[in-house]
Amino acid sequence: LDPSSENLSPVERDIEKALRPQEFEDFTGQDKILENLRIFVKAAKLRGEALDHVLLHGPPGLGKTTLSHIIANEMGVNIKVTSGPVLDKPGDLAGLLTNLDSGDILFIDEIHRLSPLVEEYLYSAMEDFKIDIMLESGPNARSVQIGLNPFTLIGATTRSGLLTAPLRARFGINSRLAYYDAKLLTTIVLRSSAILNTPTTEEGAYEIARRSRGTPRIANALLRRTRDFAQIKGNGKIDTEIARYALSALNVDEHGLDEMDNKILLAIIDKFKGGPVGLKTIATAVGEDDGTIEEVYEPFLIQEGYLMRTARGREVTDAAYKHLNRTRLGQTGK
Ligand code: ADP
Repeated sequence: LDPSSENLSPVERDIEKALRPQEFEDFTGQDKILENLRIFVKAAKLRGEALDHVLLHGPPGLGKTTLSHIIANEMGVNIKVTSGPVLDKPGDLAGLLTNLDSGDILFIDEIHRLSPLVEEYLYSAMEDFKIDIMLESGPNARSVQIGLNPFTLIGATTRSGLLTAPLRARFGINSRLAYYDAKLLTTIVLRSSAILNTPTTEEGAYEIARRSRGTPRIANALLRRTRDFAQIKGNGKIDTEIARYALSALNVDEHGLDEMDNKILLAIIDKFKGGPVGLKTIATAVGEDDGTIEEVYEPFLIQEGYLMRTARGREVTDAAYKHLNRTRLGQTGK
């Protein structure tokens, strides 16, 4: 249940696309952010200007890419999509920037992973819509300044803490997406099941929603898997019973924690007396990348009150002991 979209098959990617809201109207939740964006978009259109640069942050699967496409739709402009790790030379960025029409959007996913050189290049592009290009190399090298069409940069990041201050300062609009509550996710699951032509009861949708780690991408993924169970083990319809059956087969527990969530909590309790313990040590203990733990698992465990981030490392809470049927002092309690 990896909430990043990197491991999707082509078919699943197509489905994800079909489920993706196209307009502000279809986008559920994040009310405050949407309310503001609608105003900024309207004002920019009224003035005939490009929208100010937008920084979207928050855990994977919460709608940053979706929102960027919606903004492009609503502005009536094109969107070019790239990502921090892909842009490794200033020349790559220059190629993209010089091809933007007036008002277009350049979407850079994982913007915290831009190389410092490319990032620096971006500054003048964002600020003055100008870039310096080096012509030739060696003794004949000289740089020329090229003007760009006014454009909007939308940066998305799961790790806003890693963004440099000068880059962050260049975004006029800065929004943090929050996890979705079960009610909002129920709405999203019902909308998706309608698109997938799968009859779903409100209770069935809620059962999936409340166990989706507050994340629309996970809710949609669980819905697709539950649909499989409904088709093969049931009558094609999703209700509470088939949803429960599917979710337990998928190792999503009663509280919506998945295998890795539980593995992390258990490791801290059983191997490190509940903490505090460093992130890298946890990563080694559970066999997962430390960045993934920090970006994907930890924020949810913290928000749900199972984990705390302290100056000395990560510590689990009493709620984690209770959830996993363990007693403090390191003994196993049943
Ligand atoms: P991110 O870029 O933050 O990782 P995405 O924008 O790719 O997340 O969203 C993942 C999937 O979740 C999308 O395909 C979309 O279908 C769904 N999704 C995200 N946010 C919403 C929302 N607010 N309403 C409905 N579906 C959503």
